[in-house]
Amino acid sequence: MCSHVAGLEPVPPRTPRGCEECLKSGDRWVHLRLCLSCGHVGCCDSSPNKHATKHFHHPTHPVVVSFEPDERWGWCYVDEEMLEVPAAAEPYLR
Ligand SMILES: [Zn+2]
Ligand SMILES: [Zn+2]
Ligand SMILES: [Zn+2]
Repeated sequence: MCSHVAGLEPVPPRTPRGCEECLKSGDRWVHLRLCLSCGHVGCCDSSPNKHATKHFHHPTHPVVVSFEPDERWGWCYVDEEMLEVPAAAEPYLR
């Protein structure tokens, strides 16, 4: 069972319009993930740059939630486990 999500206090997305790194570089993304530790918005593993996964490796922020309007799920990179979206994060999602 994932123990990481319990200690998290979700923060608002830093770049609600899209992936933080892709917006800077002008790249495209497929889907977006929101880091619950710091509000980083990154692109998914189907995107060319996989910024959400890169963000997990450096620095270590274990839990992301989907930042897609029609999706509600979370993922812990450490436990490799699907999670429910914490109620505290719901107001920050699209
Ligand atoms: Zn975990
Ligand atoms: Zn990206
Ligand atoms: Zn983060």
